[in-house]
Amino acid sequence: MILTPHTILEVAQHRAVGMFTFDLLRYAMGAGIVALVVWGLRRTSWASRKIQKREATGADIRREVMASIRTVMVYTVFGVLTVWGMSQGYLSGMEPSYGLAIDVSILIALLLVHDAYFYWAHRTMHHPKLFKTFHRFHHRTITPTPWAAYSFAVPEAAVMAVFMPMWLALVPTPGWVTFTFLVVMILRNAMGHAGLELHARGWASHPVLKWISTTTHHDLHHAGSFNHNFGFYLTFWDKVMGTEHPDYVATYDRVTAATPKTASTELAPSPVL
Ligand SMILES: [Zn+2]
Ligand SMILES: [Zn+2]
Repeated sequence: MILTPHTILEVAQHRAVGMFTFDLLRYAMGAGIVALVVWGLRRTSWASRKIQKREATGADIRREVMASIRTVMVYTVFGVLTVWGMSQGYLSGMEPSYGLAIDVSILIALLLVHDAYFYWAHRTMHHPKLFKTFHRFHHRTITPTPWAAYSFAVPEAAVMAVFMPMWLALVPTPGWVTFTFLVVMILRNAMGHAGLELHARGWASHPVLKWISTTTHHDLHHAGSFNHNFGFYLTFWDKVMGTEHPDYVATYDRVTAATPKTASTELAPSPVL
């Protein structure tokens, strides 16, 4: 579907504020929902699933939120260019549905291609010549929080933003598929930075589920293991390329191990009458 041709300035005037608001809300809701779930779980027996002993500071969270808002601005610039590209016929627009089976196939393909793009872009940004400019800022987060989802320097935000227009240049994608992809992406991103393991016990060694990434998987990368765990939705590329952390499964099993009732519960003082 080709939209009415517009200049870049016209697209910016009519669409930039809406795009910025949409992406800011997508970030705030995605990170906010995961942060709320983590906050709740830390008041249950799942508190033992906190991956690192260290706590993120208020300064960490402020830095992550401010940088994520900056990333949303970068995404808005690329969003304007994308809609302009649609209006010129360079990129596919919001295509109507092709039917559920084809639409879902496109969604799965989009997630798989994005997973490969993320792995290789991420691994490339760890090259010593590129790390400082592109990726060091994201690694100022040592103890991840969901708010770190878009905590990127501007060059890294641009690397992430350019994926969608590249995809739309090649694959005419239904609007609802693009929207669902954007929702899944922010939720998985926030879950990867949750700081508390959210996946079921045994996940990392399950014959099928082990191919899907976990919070511990990305947390180990932030905790200083810069040569391991570059993947996003899946562990596929890390397994195939031999970059999975050697202690990943053991760490996962330790973090998700059942623990006896906490000492604080057992030693709770009896009410004073
Ligand atoms: Zn990294
Ligand atoms: Zn990260």
